[in-house]
Order: sequence, then C-alpha cells, then structure tokens
Amino acid sequence: MSELTVRAAKLDAVDELAVKRAEFVLDAASGHAADAAGVYLDGNSLGALPAVVPGRVEDVVRRQWGELRIQSWEESGWWAAPERIGDRIAPLVGAAPGQVVVGDSTSVNVFKALVGAVRMAGDGRDEVLVDATTFPTDGYIAESAARMTGRTLRPVAPAEVPGALGDRTAAVLLNHVDYRTGRLHDLPALTAAVHEAGALTVWDLCHSAGALPVGLDEHGVDLAVGCTYKYLNGGPGAPAYLYVRRELQDRFDSPLPGWNSHAEPFGMRSGYEPASGAPRGRVGTPDILSMLALEAALEVWEGVPVEAVRAKSLALTDFFLECVAEYVPEGRVECLTPVAHAERGSQIALRCDDAGEVMKRLIERGVVGDYRAPDVLRFGFTPLYVGFADVERAARVLARTLG
Ligand SMILES: *Cc1c(COP(=O)(O)O)cnc(C)c1O
Repeated sequence: MSELTVRAAKLDAVDELAVKRAEFVLDAASGHAADAAGVYLDGNSLGALPAVVPGRVEDVVRRQWGELRIQSWEESGWWAAPERIGDRIAPLVGAAPGQVVVGDSTSVNVFKALVGAVRMAGDGRDEVLVDATTFPTDGYIAESAARMTGRTLRPVAPAEVPGALGDRTAAVLLNHVDYRTGRLHDLPALTAAVHEAGALTVWDLCHSAGALPVGLDEHGVDLAVGCTYKYLNGGPGAPAYLYVRRELQDRFDSPLPGWNSHAEPFGMRSGYEPASGAPRGRVGTPDILSMLALEAALEVWEGVPVEAVRAKSLALTDFFLECVAEYVPEGRVECLTPVAHAERGSQIALRCDDAGEVMKRLIERGVVGDYRAPDVLRFGFTPLYVGFADVERAARVLARTLG
C-alpha cells in the first residue's frame, strides 16, 4: 500500500460525515478493497440519489395523487410546498425563513431576479453588469432581461466588477462559484461594493449551495437563485429556488406574475395584486412530483452543519491535488482551480490535452467526472458521499489513463 492509500484510510476513519454515505444509492462502499467500484465525482452536475427518495415518490404518486387526488393540494401540503421547501433550503444558504421560494428552473429564476432587481434600482440607472465568465444560460437570460428593460448589458470579470461600478449601474449578476474553474468569488466584498454604488446584487448559487456556507442574510445579498440538482441532490431537473431579501420583498415586482403569486390566487380576479413575502416569486402551478422528490432529498441534511461540509470539501480537494501531484507526470495537467482555500469551491478543474478523450476513458474505468469544452476535466467533490479513498483512487486512475 502506498503512503497515500494509508493516509486515505486514516482520513476516512476519522471523517464525521462518512456515515452519510449510507444514505445515498451508490455503486459500492468506499475503501481500497473496493477498487472495482465506481467513484462518482460528478455531484456538481447531478447529485446522487438519496435512498429515501424512491419510497417517497412512490407514496406521492400512488397515495397522494392516486388516492387523494385533488384533496392533496391541501391534505398532502402540495399548495404550500414551494415555501415550505424554500424554508428547508434557507439554512443551507444562510437565510432566515420566509425568503426562499422553490419552483421553475434556474434560468427562469435568473430572469425573475434580474428584471426584479433592475426595476427596484429605478429609472436613472441604465446599465446591468454580468459575470463575463458566467455559465452561459445566465448570460443569455441577462442579455434578454437588459434588452427588455431598456438597459445595456456589460460583461465584466468578477474581479473587475468594483472598478466597473458607478451611478449608472442598476444590477450585477454574479456566479458565486465559477462552474468551469471552481473559483469561489468573494461574495461579501463584491456585495458590499455593489451596494456602495447604490446597485443591487443577484447571486447565482448553483455551484456553492450545499457545498459551502453562503451567508445570504449576513452579507446583505439582495436576490439570489440556485439549482437543487447539484450539491442538493434533488434529482434531474429538480426545481430551482429564488431568494429575495426580506426588506425588498414588498418592492419586488416580478416580470412573471402568474396566478400562484397573486395575493388571492383562488379569487380568480382579472386584476393582479401581488402576494406579500416569498410567494410573490411563484409563477404557475408547481411541479409537485419533482418538488416532493427534492423535499425528501433534503432530509439528508438533517443535523449536518454546512461548516462541516465545507471543512471536508476543502480536505477532499486538498488531498486530490496532493494525489494528482504525486501520481500524475509533471506537466501533463494544469490545475485551473485556485489553490487558496478562500478562492476554491468544491471542485477541481484540470486542463489537459485531449480532455474529452481522457474523460471518456476515465468513465470506462469507473471514475466519473465530466468534460467541459474545450479542454477541461472537472471533478466535483460532494462531502456527503465522497470519501478520501475515492479521491486517492480517482487520482491513481487518472494517472494511469494519462500515462
Ligand atoms: C447548473 C447551472 C445552471 C442551470 O440552469 P437550468 O435552468 O437549471 O438549466 C444555471 N446557472 C449556473 C451558474 C449553473 O451552474
């Protein structure tokens, strides 16, 4: 056994989150004896299935829908699910109850949040800044939101945002963690800078929620969105969420004021009057099956402090970098993820030649990460179900594949 294999076993033995792995459906137990088992390092794209979900979905379909039918909107709590599940996500992103609502996709919520932010910023401000390195959908939606509200969209690298702000800035849309490189941006400092300029922030938490503390309330973030199928394990296409800070809720003017966001949805009035609080972020009838699968999936967070998740995430990524440095021939890969903890999310991105081909071979050998064009290997580390032996094995298989 190599020194790193021994170290991995020791780290797994003292890992207080290791027990969580049993709550997920995965190929086989961790450990060096399980070398034939798969290593799943793509939870930053699609989280693994929590074991509690299939039974819950079965109950929702067979009993709640099949037997209770229409009564389930009240009796099974379907109608209130978007706010109830929002309150379940809230502590994971540092929000007090009543500010997060679940529904629609991240793309749709980016639209609601950004147009809402621009409307709150007022008429005098004619510019919207967007993270120039953003996940594409945020950029596409921001372009349309700016066009529809008569503002100019300016792409700016997150580090350059403070210098680009001014009294023309209405709103700034930023990614908390860069999906490609895994770089963590300084949410407290950037939010403070945007506020200093009198503008509003919209943060996209897709790659941070469930992996590290976000502190929305603490840092005075205005609006935020995020998906639930990455580190929150909600399932393919699980509904996203929208956060609107409490003090802004009364001023939030949704560009998609569907009947679910009406003050009296069953009044069936022709005139629109917005609900107060988080429900104002709703649009139409919620996708109950996905939403209740997500609710069950969130049970794995019971008693798990986000700080413990962050500590393990950093330990996992540190250990992966160490194993890669030890096993992979010098110069064969280049790490795009910052080494500094303060700038690192929960993934490691390695640039290498033939990355698409390399990832294909890694997956054949049971190490599942993903490839992002043109030349990036992405490995996501989900602290609830990835262990240190997995990390060591992934690096070893990577070295063999590159060798
Ligand atoms: C994953 C991700 C999305 C996904 O948006 P969907 O509408 O759910 O497809 C959006 N933004 C970022 C930053 C992401 O990482």
